[in-house]
Amino acid sequence: MRLGALEAGGTKMVCAVCDENGNVLEQESFPTTTPEETLPKLYEYFEKKNIDCLGIACFGPADVREGSPTWGKVLMTPKVPWRNADVAGYFKGLNVPIGFDTDVNGSLIGETTFGIGKNYKNVVYFTIGTGVGAGIMVNGELVHGMLHPEAGHMLLSMSEKDPMKQGVCFAHPNCFEGLCCGPSLIKRWGKGGKELVDRKEVWELQGYYIAQAMINIMSVVSPELIILGGGVMHQADVLLPEVWKQFKELNNGYIQTEQTKDPEKYIVCQSLNDNQGILGAAVIGQKAYEKN
Ligand code: ZN
Repeated sequence: MRLGALEAGGTKMVCAVCDENGNVLEQESFPTTTPEETLPKLYEYFEKKNIDCLGIACFGPADVREGSPTWGKVLMTPKVPWRNADVAGYFKGLNVPIGFDTDVNGSLIGETTFGIGKNYKNVVYFTIGTGVGAGIMVNGELVHGMLHPEAGHMLLSMSEKDPMKQGVCFAHPNCFEGLCCGPSLIKRWGKGGKELVDRKEVWELQGYYIAQAMINIMSVVSPELIILGGGVMHQADVLLPEVWKQFKELNNGYIQTEQTKDPEKYIVCQSLNDNQGILGAAVIGQKAYEKN
């Protein structure tokens, strides 16, 4: 099969054709500008590829509720030109089954189908990059619920050592995204993660916030594995040890399982070289095809 896959991100759109075995056969990226400018380029890409289905893993908030009149649309996003953009609807003319889910659910499906999450049914995937988002799988099913989880906006306790008074989220002064995303690093320290690798205080603080989020998600969802991806995690070598250490401290012996004893195996990095999103999008398309 030729699985069309679109990873629709806030900064770039990745289009690909994949097979069922987790191979990306061909791939091209386009910058995300406005729907009027960007969507026709994506359509043109897929039009010539002889695909059997199309899976879209889209930035949010987006309407992923099947049967909803606004299914497949981006909702009240901070990226103003994309508000109410009918992303899935734009590809109807391809005449192939279309699957639509959030970008983070795409990454989660990629990892649970082909990657480190393969043998688990209760998994949470966080992307920590330009924004922070989470995909949640419970008993092998993606959680959509009322809309879809927005665990990047869980509220955290701010550290007294934080030189910022509040995070960068427009809605919340102290949410996970506002305190931990890439832009928050730049606001707080004047530089991106790559240029801060030698600054221990940067990763102690970052680790403190991520560890809080890990405690919260563990307490609510009880996942068997937590996977972290996104641009901020490119500094995993300096960051993850801080997350593990502070996760243990914050857990304070309360939940005692194999996983909490050994957070190195519990809170892990993405395993598919940043292809988890596009491979997951392909699986979303394949599922739509099978349903059809
Ligand atoms: Zn927020």
